[in-house]
Amino acid sequence: MQTKILPVNVESVEKAKQIWLDGGLIGMPTETVYGLGAVATNPEAVKKIFEVKGRPSDNPLIAHVHKDYNLDTLVYVEHDYVNNLIKAFMPGPLTLVMKSKGVVCSEAVCGGDTLAVRMPSHVGCQQLLKAVDMPIVAPSANISKHTSPVTAMHVYNDLNGKIPLILDGGKCSGGIESTVLDVTESVPRILRAGLITKEMIESITGECLIAEHKEGDKVKSPGVKYRHYRPKCETALFSEEQIEKAIELYNEYENAGKTPYIMCRTTVSKAFDGKNILDLGETPEQIAYNLYDKLLEGETKAQIIIAISMPSEKGVYMGIMNRLRKSCG
Ligand code: AMP
Ligand code: MG
Repeated sequence: MQTKILPVNVESVEKAKQIWLDGGLIGMPTETVYGLGAVATNPEAVKKIFEVKGRPSDNPLIAHVHKDYNLDTLVYVEHDYVNNLIKAFMPGPLTLVMKSKGVVCSEAVCGGDTLAVRMPSHVGCQQLLKAVDMPIVAPSANISKHTSPVTAMHVYNDLNGKIPLILDGGKCSGGIESTVLDVTESVPRILRAGLITKEMIESITGECLIAEHKEGDKVKSPGVKYRHYRPKCETALFSEEQIEKAIELYNEYENAGKTPYIMCRTTVSKAFDGKNILDLGETPEQIAYNLYDKLLEGETKAQIIIAISMPSEKGVYMGIMNRLRKSCG
């Protein structure tokens, strides 16, 4: 199969819609990362997603809909605070896990009774979802466990020959996957941290819990238990207090004739003067925007990426640290 990359426009959207209606898969832009989309009510199409990605069969998918889509057709809104969250953060990088009405096929939710739904804010994605006017399930458009794609070229590098079409909507503005929030209980619970932070959710709901995933637990969001986001080179992760150790490791690699790169925020990069740097930028938003791009750049030129942790775990840093531990830890 030949994989085409087309910019998002009226004609390419029409093409994508036809592929979806015929049971095929599309690489599509969103504001978080690129998605691998299929019609959520078509079990055969949904199975293809798991095959193409090599995705574990117990890891459910998120259904994406356009901003005027009536969520009541897909899920039960069981608590008043959920409507306030929808008003505040949708469309945007927030995924809500709710009780499913069973419209989306059971293959997509891995036989579970809940459905994760999201309304992407990316304009091209909205255009696409509006045209098809059906829920589209879309995990990140990468081979399972590899770093998530934030450009159409990243998708191509992983899925070339496996899907017919990638729509190019530019580099993703957010850069890390959506916040996944379980809203089936009276207090919301973060299953996966992202750009919609605990603090932002609390400003609407008053309270917000964070799911703990302990070894051996039956986890509520199965995706979080897997190794994830990994670049194709060696990695290491140090805290900002361990910069001496990071330099030692860097020198070890260099002395062995290998190419190490340090991945860190701009301020911290000053401590690594003259060394190979993958600069993540300075603000948490810049760092999220650059993270996967730098990991994917790094794997093409480094034998090892030596990542330096963030200065805190608060706000957007929570989502960044979650990805950094899984990709480099
Ligand atoms: P991705 O693999 O990037 O598509 O991320 C989807 C995330 O949402 C994974 O962590 C899934 O485990 C989680 N998820 C999807 N559907 C559900 C659901 N019904 N209940 C709990 N978590 C879900
Ligand atoms: Mg993924």
